[in-house]
Amino acid sequence: MNQSQKIIGHLSTINRHKAKVTSLCFRCGLIKQGLLHDLSKYSWEELKTGFKYYQGYRSPIDAQKEAEGCSTSWLHHKGRNKHHWEYWLDHNKDGIFPVKMPFNYVAEMFCDRTAASMTYLKDKYNDSSALEYYRKNQAITMFHPDTEKQLVYLLEYQRDHGLDATLKKIKSMLSEFRKTGTVTLD
Ligand SMILES: [Zn+2]
Repeated sequence: MNQSQKIIGHLSTINRHKAKVTSLCFRCGLIKQGLLHDLSKYSWEELKTGFKYYQGYRSPIDAQKEAEGCSTSWLHHKGRNKHHWEYWLDHNKDGIFPVKMPFNYVAEMFCDRTAASMTYLKDKYNDSSALEYYRKNQAITMFHPDTEKQLVYLLEYQRDHGLDATLKKIKSMLSEFRKTGTVTLD
């Protein structure tokens, strides 16, 4: 693949992903987050990694980690985007600990994961795909227990009731969250 194919490939991947997440966010009523989702991917720090490591079948971040041992692009990304659980890791004298994510970012994370599963799995995608991806990576993540319960609730709701019903559910949970600062998982 030549350099201009990589540039076009990467830009089209991030544009398509962002458009998909934005439309899912809009359907749950997350307008501002939908518009701002992953905006840092258009910063030079993140773009240059995409242009260099674009492969088409996996994230250039993974390719950068493999080649360089770590991804400066990912460090830049997760430090600026609150829908990633990695953003919410803090530390004190006892070590690193996860902070509970506000529910509006859990909802954006759900939209991000669903959109990414659709993009990567194409015709193999179904309502359980995002849950399966979560389960596969469960052992190497560090969620706050409440955050994890909320995410799993949404992913299982999607498996059992489908995407449309889940987006409606999220919309009503977001209005509860805005009124009371919490959500009930029934
Ligand atoms: Zn992101």
